[in-house]
Amino acid sequence: MAEHGQYYVAIVGGAVSGSVAAELLADHGIRVAVFEQNKRPYGKIEDGLPRWHAEQRRQEYRRIDARLKKPGIQFIPSVKLGQDLDFRDLCDHWGFSAVILANGAWRDRDLGVPGAEQYVGKGLLYQNPFIHWYNHKSEKGYSGPQYDAPDEALVVGGGLASIDVVKILQLENYARALQARGVESTLHDLEKGIPAFCKPRGIDPASLGVKGCLLIYRRREQDMPLAQPPENATPEQIAKTEHVRQKMIRLARDRYLFRFQDRRMATGLIVEGGRLTGLKLTETKVEGRKADPIPGSEHELRAPLVVSSIGSVPEAIPGVAMKGEYYTFTDDNLPRYAGSDHVFGVGNVVTGQGNIRVSLDHSQKVTTQLIENYMGVGEGGGDFSGLYASAEARAAARATAVEEGVKTLPALSPSQVAALDQRIRSLQQRVGYTSDYDSWIAKVTPPDLE
Ligand SMILES: Cc1cc2nc3c(=O)[nH]c(=O)nc-3n(C[C@H](O)[C@H](O)[C@H](O)COP(=O)(O)OP(=O)(O)OC[C@H]3O[C@@H](n4cnc5c(N)ncnc54)[C@H](O)[C@@H]3O)c2cc1C
Repeated sequence: MAEHGQYYVAIVGGAVSGSVAAELLADHGIRVAVFEQNKRPYGKIEDGLPRWHAEQRRQEYRRIDARLKKPGIQFIPSVKLGQDLDFRDLCDHWGFSAVILANGAWRDRDLGVPGAEQYVGKGLLYQNPFIHWYNHKSEKGYSGPQYDAPDEALVVGGGLASIDVVKILQLENYARALQARGVESTLHDLEKGIPAFCKPRGIDPASLGVKGCLLIYRRREQDMPLAQPPENATPEQIAKTEHVRQKMIRLARDRYLFRFQDRRMATGLIVEGGRLTGLKLTETKVEGRKADPIPGSEHELRAPLVVSSIGSVPEAIPGVAMKGEYYTFTDDNLPRYAGSDHVFGVGNVVTGQGNIRVSLDHSQKVTTQLIENYMGVGEGGGDFSGLYASAEARAAARATAVEEGVKTLPALSPSQVAALDQRIRSLQQRVGYTSDYDSWIAKVTPPDLE
């Protein structure tokens, strides 16, 4: 089977970037196994995008479903790399032609104040678990951690996700205050804007007694990463982006009535009775990307809850080498894991942040390169034509690989493919996935999921 083997690719993570890679491979006749840690494969769409994005979330779920149920794709839910599946074993012993990491960025960056970690859950929360709770807390079957969303919380952030955290806190507090006054509101009513909800009802929002949460950001408000200038931007384009950022934060404050301070940096903790009850802050002097503390400007800020929302990075996985906060991918164009020539990365696990479009485009670009340059399946694969890579295509792939000094990916014999199928089936059965993708999703979707 040297010239006519079949490719079999493992993908870790089934959300936007994983499902896009799976579909592309399957459309070229390549077999795919998608290992997903959760029962449902929607990643940041389900647990990151706050639930007021109801229609967008449903649309993305449908897109992911349509991709993952393509023929040739095996979905293996409830299998976590690093816990149920060993990274080195997957790469070196399972026998896949390639492994694509599409497991996103789920570790919150540390708050960066020494000693803060011991107060997680005791006055300090990170964005990822906070939004997961918010998105699922109303489900009857939710059994995860329960959090409060008290008034006057302090949010450390500055990016788009931190604005979502602030919105959640404000929506929760205003809904409570309105209810105390006998006025029912839904999340979707309030998300359109708190003053817009109050005005036709003759309510002055200030009379509701909500003091509002406070968002602090270490640079200037026009530096907030809410919008990005184009590459190689002119001074005019940079000025325009800064203006857009200021407008975005102003609009968000008008709608959700939160407080905001720029040029503030957390330098210490206030701890009382074993709980974090606030932060020591300093003002900063901003020059370019640098934000330095201004001596003498130190002050204390008490808060019933501190939420840190300063970015997400990939989770550390036993056996996966890291360079700083990221896995060691060697090349920006084709992110190849430094420790293995057949392990690649797509989406947030490489980019760290971004959005749905960025993850989708990144996955498409990387997977297309893999298919065309390292598998030699090329354009026009589809149905059966790509299942067995032609000798010419494989020769062309090999030529590209030799030119670039790397090995082509191995194609497998029928018995190797059958052995992988068998191993995958037994994993699926172990978690109760015994039928098809649609029946599984129907079985594990909470009836009251928004
Ligand atoms: C608060 C917030 C708001 C956002 N709002 C928007 C928005 O309005 N518009 C927009 O376009 N984008 C938004 N985004 C960004 C967008 O959701 C993401 O950039 C995109 O969905 C990431 O897709 P991904 O496939 O790369 O990663 P993910 O969605 O993170 O997918 C990774 C998958 O891998 C799985 N996984 C993780 N670890 C393992 C493991 N060890 N083993 C097995 N499986 C694993 C996860 O369960 C998940 O299914 C938002 C993000 C956040 C956090």
